[in-house]
Amino acid sequence: MAKKTTTPKGKIAPKADAADKLRDFMVDGLKDLYWAEKALVKNLPKMAKNATSQHLKTAIQGHLKETEGQVKRLESAFKALKLKPQAVKCDAMDGLVKEAKGIMEETEPGAVRDAAIIAAAQKVEHYEIASYGTLATYAKLLGEKDVLKLLLETLKEEKTCDKDLTKLAKTEINIKAK
Ligand code: FE
Ligand code: FE
Ligand code: FE
Repeated sequence: MAKKTTTPKGKIAPKADAADKLRDFMVDGLKDLYWAEKALVKNLPKMAKNATSQHLKTAIQGHLKETEGQVKRLESAFKALKLKPQAVKCDAMDGLVKEAKGIMEETEPGAVRDAAIIAAAQKVEHYEIASYGTLATYAKLLGEKDVLKLLLETLKEEKTCDKDLTKLAKTEINIKAK
């Protein structure tokens, strides 16, 4: 538990329930991702709907199915830690989802909007890759093997999705948008 001290200017004062152990910080990360994945389950359909390329629609819909599984996997991770699943708002994903909506509004439907959707989707995937990668490192260090396994399964899906989007952009979408 954080001690109550005066905070020098520019330093962040910890909240009363601030994590002081890596395990607690890892759990905070799981809560953040649980919110983020659920936000994506809600928002990926909008991105698929606004895509013109059938390949892009299919890619997003496929990742939506994976994302539903990732939500379940996080629930299993909470269970492995003997905790109830809890979502805490991920400000970053909230922002990335808002930005995705913004860039769809700023692009004409067709190849340019498709390029914009890929750009937005890859920002999402990179955030997820960073988050799952970090939490997997913590889980390994803490000897949480079941959690580690679950996180690595999802990490692999996020990386594959990112690679597939790069390929789709380079071989089809960006060329059409040009
Ligand atoms: Fe995900
Ligand atoms: Fe977050
Ligand atoms: Fe993803």
